[in-house]
Amino acid sequence: MEPVKVFLDDREIPKQWYNILADMPTPMSPPLHPGTGQPIGPDDLAPVFPMNLIEQEVSTERWIDIPEEVLEKYLLWRPTPLCRARNFEKLLDAPVKIYYKNEGVSPPGSHKPNTAVAQAYYNKVFGVKRLSTETGAGQWGSALSMACQMFGLECRVFMVKVSYEQKPYRRMMMMTWGANCIPSPSDKTEAGRKILAEIPDSPGSLGIAISEAIEDAVSDEDARYSLGSVLNHVLLHQTINGLECQKQLEKLGVYPDVVIGCTGGGSNFAGLCLPFVRDKIHGKDISIVAAEPTSCPTMTRGPFAYDFGDTAMTTPLLPMHTLGHDFVPAPIHAGGLRYHGMAPIISHLVKEQIVEARAYNQLETFDAGVKWARTEGYIPAPETNHAIAAVVQEAQRAKEEGKEKTILFNWSGHGLVDLAAYDAYLSGKLTKYELPDEEIQGSLNSIAGLPKP
Ligand SMILES: *Cc1c(COP(=O)(O)O)cnc(C)c1O
Repeated sequence: MEPVKVFLDDREIPKQWYNILADMPTPMSPPLHPGTGQPIGPDDLAPVFPMNLIEQEVSTERWIDIPEEVLEKYLLWRPTPLCRARNFEKLLDAPVKIYYKNEGVSPPGSHKPNTAVAQAYYNKVFGVKRLSTETGAGQWGSALSMACQMFGLECRVFMVKVSYEQKPYRRMMMMTWGANCIPSPSDKTEAGRKILAEIPDSPGSLGIAISEAIEDAVSDEDARYSLGSVLNHVLLHQTINGLECQKQLEKLGVYPDVVIGCTGGGSNFAGLCLPFVRDKIHGKDISIVAAEPTSCPTMTRGPFAYDFGDTAMTTPLLPMHTLGHDFVPAPIHAGGLRYHGMAPIISHLVKEQIVEARAYNQLETFDAGVKWARTEGYIPAPETNHAIAAVVQEAQRAKEEGKEKTILFNWSGHGLVDLAAYDAYLSGKLTKYELPDEEIQGSLNSIAGLPKP
């Protein structure tokens, strides 16, 4: 009998993270200072992040040692299993083998603590007392709350107000792990007060919450800001997953033809895929697919441009695929992955055609997720369903072409705290919703005057 799961022994956990910047085939455009239009230096970021993380952000070292203290926390749930989805394969009835890396086994239920734990550790050793961050549905906020508690830091989370009200369970997780969770826009910051003055009942957005969290961090010298995706050091920390996976595949004697991940800001995708991108750069024949929603189609319909990471235009300008910093997805969109931009590393790889981006509508993604739950048992996060929709599409193609294929994807998290989205799908409340061109054009007006990469 062929094995269904491959575990690694605790002692086999990778001891280093992989930095793709050492292997990029073409140079990336630098982040720019919005005032001067010049590349930013480490000192520009010092009020926002601790210097040890800024060093990682700009590092071009290929391998970076994972501190013992971080490994010790990783071992609470890592190495995560690599599994074969035999029942799902049977349902699809295509000539494919499907493997998935289960990142849903972490305490908050997603890949996010891979970087949360590392960031809390580096802030702690730098002498920071408190971290401030934003969260949408609450995945990131809950991961950082747990990590801060583990390293004795205070944690303040600005949570998008509509989620704060509609999705109380992640707020409760944050509070259980000892964090302070505030609905955004709030009256705690200038950015929040400004929005409230204009729109008193604003539902909030990720961009507004980022502005609040940054302002809160830079106005307290004992505090720093923490971001759960997009930045180079976040993607770096996530690579523990892909490196583990390569060891597991080696035990099986398997190498995938296609690797797939869903993409919001790009971090779980990067975590699994960047070690395979390295192989591809060195000549391996492999497709690497990034799956995003049609209602927030950053890579498939947004240009590669300089844009701000937040609505209040306080961050450096990042070279990335973007829908414009004012973009807010339609309220009907239930699947997560709502950020207007994309990690510069992933954007660059898409531009270089090393990574292929595809978009899926929410009826396809929930259909795939429900099929998954009814065969493999585990209920995926709505975000993860985008990756599963891409797996279904790859399987159909393999069937049409009559070609055998091995597919690997990142099962980025479970959906046990997102059942309201499943309820909306199962009761027929979701629609396909294609984003109109005019709406994209409208939000892209906000980047018209910015420098071009
Ligand atoms: C946050 C999240 C994502 C999207 O974020 P990325 O930075 O693109 O990985 C995907 N899946 C799950 C389960 C998440 O919690």
